[in-house]
Amino acid sequence: PPAESLAPHDVFIAVKTTRKFHRARLDLLLETWISRHKEMTFIFTDGDDEALARRTGNVVNTNCSAAHSRQALSCKMAVEYDHFIESGRKWFCHVDDDNYVNVRALLRLLAGYLHTQDVYIGKPSLDRPIQATERVSENKMRPVHFWFATGGAGFCISRGLALKMSPWASRGHFMSTAERIRLPDDCTIGYIVEALLGVPLIRSGLFHSHLENLQQVPASELHEQVTLSYGMFESKRNAIHMKGPFSVEADPSRFRSIHCHLYPDTPWCPHSAVF
Ligand code: UDP
Ligand code: MN
Repeated sequence: PPAESLAPHDVFIAVKTTRKFHRARLDLLLETWISRHKEMTFIFTDGDDEALARRTGNVVNTNCSAAHSRQALSCKMAVEYDHFIESGRKWFCHVDDDNYVNVRALLRLLAGYLHTQDVYIGKPSLDRPIQATERVSENKMRPVHFWFATGGAGFCISRGLALKMSPWASRGHFMSTAERIRLPDDCTIGYIVEALLGVPLIRSGLFHSHLENLQQVPASELHEQVTLSYGMFESKRNAIHMKGPFSVEADPSRFRSIHCHLYPDTPWCPHSAVF
């Protein structure tokens, strides 16, 4: 049974993107899942785009560098975190611009927890804790190990936990915390939550990145998954396997097909699905 009833405006979904992916990736999300959940979704990018601003008011230009560097990505995560705190919402969820979010499944999952408790939920990208070296001071280092949820599969954090993260994650601090372990933004989140606050990651099999074989998600369970993805895996194209209204050529990510399955009343979906 749900622990808490949740409305869409209780959840803050941050989508990380970069200027060069606005047309290549973000437009597909705006046509599919974001179109149904504009009030929950905030786009964090690094360059102005009038065409994007016309489609949604929730665009944040982070003014972070457009490089794929550790610093640039941590800069974006820090801005996402600050905007979430500012929003006053109950749940923070982060996804990449190659994720499909099934918002109904997401709300079902989060409703099983209390936003006032310490909740960090997602999918670990490794089968063991990551080993890192923590710079404690100028010339003191020590090993740390912790689990982290892979950013490319999406993860969520309750407001209760997010507030406790503030000394290491709020404006300015996130970047210096990331430098302490010299790891990417999603690892830094795991470091703050598990290593510094002692709150364990809750593993969920409902989050998916393209670092796993997406063909293995059973067709009968696709509609229950919280996130999906597409991209490259072991140098091959990777996407969910789904018989849908669109061919693989017309819909290589399969996001249009899954969207029509979840929201058959969408105007551009083949009409036979609507009664
Ligand atoms: N990204 C970014 N700046 C860049 C390159 C990528 O913000 O310079 C974002 C991108 O939009 C995506 C995430 O980082 O949300 C991961 O990028 P990508 O999927 O290309 O790489 P992956 O790490 O999944 O192989
Ligand atoms: Mn990716």
